[in-house]
Amino acid sequence: MSCSYADGLSNYENKGVLGSPEKFDSEEKVESKCNLLIEWIKNSKHIVVHTGAGISTAAGIPDFRGPNGVWTLEKQGKKPNISISFNEAIPTKTHMALKHLIEKNYVHYIISQNIDGLHLRSGIPRNCIAELHGNMFTSQCNVCESQFVRTEATSTVGKKSLNEDCKRSAVLRGRSCRGKLHDTILDWEDSLPEFDLEMSDYHSSLADLNICLGTTLQIVPSGNLPLRCKKYGGKVVVVNLQPTKHDKKADLIINTYVDAVLAKIMKKLGLEIPEYHQTIDPTKNRELIEWNISKKDVIDMKARYEKIVKDYKKRKSEEKLIKSQHKIPKNEDWMKKNEIGKKGLIFKAEKPEDEDDDDNEFIE
Ligand SMILES: [Zn+2]
Repeated sequence: MSCSYADGLSNYENKGVLGSPEKFDSEEKVESKCNLLIEWIKNSKHIVVHTGAGISTAAGIPDFRGPNGVWTLEKQGKKPNISISFNEAIPTKTHMALKHLIEKNYVHYIISQNIDGLHLRSGIPRNCIAELHGNMFTSQCNVCESQFVRTEATSTVGKKSLNEDCKRSAVLRGRSCRGKLHDTILDWEDSLPEFDLEMSDYHSSLADLNICLGTTLQIVPSGNLPLRCKKYGGKVVVVNLQPTKHDKKADLIINTYVDAVLAKIMKKLGLEIPEYHQTIDPTKNRELIEWNISKKDVIDMKARYEKIVKDYKKRKSEEKLIKSQHKIPKNEDWMKKNEIGKKGLIFKAEKPEDEDDDDNEFIE
């Protein structure tokens, strides 16, 4: 199948803002913004990267809403000129840099809307990635729900049957499953994969830095996930050529190519971007490989997430208490509470001199 997988999806009207002009920061601006980003990366404990179609355009795969995107052209009655198939495309500099940043413990999780399988093919382990919209190089059993890596992109989209038996018996070397394998690509309004979404939610909330690469953040719920960390004090960074839905809430926006930003980050961290090679690509491995998120990982992440929610609530209630203790009464109330006021010896109620004074008399 060529990269125009969009042909296999149902018709859908609301595809968001299409074809917005691309913007480019000056070289100097990119440099200074990247310096700030590096500082944040070095000072963050949990970094999550959210990726969209913009990180795969350098591999020859068209995006959706760019000036030459699939949906932008569709609206003009045109089709993208694609010269590459999913099987031929290879991971870009950004994919390979992200894989290395995970190995070096700078990046802790990737949340991707991409179905091209290039993260998988860069060698990223399953416990470090959520694929919210599916993956052309995986299939899933309709009975046991196990996912398997494929050696070729699926021929269907929209979770259709591939007419292949579940491979679970081969993996477990035990009882066989009677299920059939299906592709994992979501059609419009399909439910997102449960564990992938749950892990994305926890990681995005826990992150003190959510970095969005090559996405206009228009698809929900994927596009809203990076904002989860704001409540808990985390930062959001956007690297994209077009404006995104959440630019106003971003702490830093870099308008340039993602590959250029990743190249600068790697250089400043003293790291090389590894070359793609078939030996690291699970789709080139003849052995059967499962591609499942472990339930234990979900439970562990849930516990970490619940702790930050608990800490947040505790902090908020403490702040509320302190605020109420320091609340300055309205003039009238203060007058009533003061003998002097009653005696009419003063004509205005002055605020207490020290607002940090723990005088409970002023609690309303
Ligand atoms: Zn099965």
